Amino acid sequence: MSKWVLQLITIGLTMVFCGLTPGQSIQWDEPTGQAVLVSGRLELVVQTKDGINAHRLRDTQTGRVYADGDYLWPGGTFPQLWSKPVIKTLPEGGKAIILNGKLADLLISQQFTIPQGKPGVILEKITITNPGTSLLDTSRFACGFARRLTDDAEALRSQFCYIPFRRYHSLVRDFTPADMIPAAAGTVWGSEGWAWSQGQNTLLITKYNNDDMEWSLLEVVKPENEKAALRFGGCGLWGRGDPERAASLKPGQAFTFGITRFEVLDGDWKDAFYAHRAFMDGQGHALPNDYNPPVHWNELYDNEYYFKVTAGAFQQPSFVKETQKKYYTLDHMKAEAAKASELGCECLYLDPGWDTGPSHFVWDEARLGTQRDFIKMLRQEYGIQHLGLWCALAHTPPGYTDPKPYSVDVARLDENGNVITFLWQAGSPDQHEAQPVICSYSPAFHDVKLKQMLKLCEDGAKFLMFDGSQYTGPCYDSSHGHSIPLTRHEHVMGYYGILAEVMRQYPETLIELHDPVLGPSSERYTPIYFCHARPATFELWGYEYMWGPMGNLLSGDSTMLYYTNLAYNIPIYLHINLKDDNANALVFWWNASLCRHLGVGGKHPDENVWQAHKDAMQTYLRLKPFFTQGEFYGLDEMIHVHTLKEKNAAVINCFNLAETPETKTFTFNLSQMGLSANAKYEIKGASSFKQDGDQMEVKVELAGRDAAVLEVKSGK
Ligand SMILES: [Zn+2]
Repeated sequence: MSKWVLQLITIGLTMVFCGLTPGQSIQWDEPTGQAVLVSGRLELVVQTKDGINAHRLRDTQTGRVYADGDYLWPGGTFPQLWSKPVIKTLPEGGKAIILNGKLADLLISQQFTIPQGKPGVILEKITITNPGTSLLDTSRFACGFARRLTDDAEALRSQFCYIPFRRYHSLVRDFTPADMIPAAAGTVWGSEGWAWSQGQNTLLITKYNNDDMEWSLLEVVKPENEKAALRFGGCGLWGRGDPERAASLKPGQAFTFGITRFEVLDGDWKDAFYAHRAFMDGQGHALPNDYNPPVHWNELYDNEYYFKVTAGAFQQPSFVKETQKKYYTLDHMKAEAAKASELGCECLYLDPGWDTGPSHFVWDEARLGTQRDFIKMLRQEYGIQHLGLWCALAHTPPGYTDPKPYSVDVARLDENGNVITFLWQAGSPDQHEAQPVICSYSPAFHDVKLKQMLKLCEDGAKFLMFDGSQYTGPCYDSSHGHSIPLTRHEHVMGYYGILAEVMRQYPETLIELHDPVLGPSSERYTPIYFCHARPATFELWGYEYMWGPMGNLLSGDSTMLYYTNLAYNIPIYLHINLKDDNANALVFWWNASLCRHLGVGGKHPDENVWQAHKDAMQTYLRLKPFFTQGEFYGLDEMIHVHTLKEKNAAVINCFNLAETPETKTFTFNLSQMGLSANAKYEIKGASSFKQDGDQMEVKVELAGRDAAVLEVKSGK
């Protein structure tokens, strides 16, 4: 069917159904003051007689009721309608009803949208406005749907699952509404999304806000003399007080919270993860086209420089210089390039030490020759095509960025206008020095960093890591152009501005952005997708699980990588210490399977393990498109499927963390893994397999602490 025919049909449907598809409708009944929205099997009822009250949300197919209590607004009353509800057809397709009301000092606009062609989906959006003449504190504003809890055993046993962090480090965090009731009043659970499951019925509740950091919130509220109710959907501040821009409103000012997206589906928490991922793909938080990042070798693990400077006086320029001259020379880098080449890596990544001083970002020609010559050397002598560079931003103490190369205007000022300093107590007491702490948003810092990064790209850098990205703290310097004091939001947007400009001028560059609020750590604060695809993209940091990856795997901590892949297609970057691996290349394969941009480093002293890594890398490079571009499915935490639909083929990684051998037998539906059910398949690497139509049973033998790579191909 040609494109214009499809367009005509679409136009026809739009005309017939006024922006909706069959099974979707919005009905407003003025005499009763009731609006009923139907999106496939999801039905929402809003009563307006006593004020705006979205009091019923249910699945008409199964009868499961999600909301059955009065909508929870601050103050326990409803916003009083001040105009007739408006129903409008949206330019992007779909229809919305907009309810405008007044609640105490605030104007409230609540919009419910039925997106065209998405049966089972309803969107909620809330705007608050200060119509008064004085500043309003809105930091405690929170609202949402209500589900009465106490008399419904089934609802009490329903399950909430965090998206994406079902496991945060090793902890599995599923919980029930019954688990929430004993929590102290005011306890709020926040997550990018929730899978709320009751048997095989799941409501996916996703918060989406790419302008301000915001999460989907849950709370159990216990109004006086009333039974406990679960609050969900709606909006509110959470975490460190984000979205910050909603915390107060000047006269006339408005704030629109991010949408809450409700989607009903048949399936469990994992199906909700996949639905969340599909939605995020649709918002542009998807894999870049033809994504093929070079495999990195990181010089860090075998080079003594970093360990010397972090053990000694990291911040003393004289010590840094001396240590660089001793441990970070062209010959040292050539030795690392030789290992990278022997293993088959495609990019040499230089961690701290390549520049003229701590986070100077100026290539140290005196030690390493010019950057262009260095890349030429990598290509000609070692067959390594690319150079990657560690770029730490402002840091906060005890992380260190040398303030000396910048003007004094980079310093943070306190409320009294004094420069904030930190006393660096390294080296002998006479070397201790109080130095200014940098404001990340100061133009004197920001502009220099951008110019330096552009120069690094101009001279051929393929990859930049944005480390040291944490919020640098409140700053009261009005000449910096930020709010007084600097907000987290401005800090994040400032760094994103540098990233976006580098990507605009050098679109082939790959940038990994550490959490822009917390910086280098195993924690994640900022929503995974935040600022991604606006329009520049970036890679995610693999939660610092690089130093001791075997321990991270055995403890369950690095399952965070698995759950991130279930929820997002945004690539993760990580460079792991291979010296922590075993002769089965367990750590290598775990990270190859979960980090679409793979980095390694550290030659294992045992030649058998090194050989295992060389063999594993050959297999990895042969199958690389499956790992970098394949659709990721998790049969469980230890069985990962990477499918290339256009090839109708997949790679399956299986892991055994136990010390004893394991015979793993598992079944899956081919069609659920993106494979055609009509083909006959062979599985290389399995001890046996049996196909019965769409169903495949696989048996694989694994040694203790072992990884297997299975190749699924359709036969001729
Ligand atoms: Zn500042």
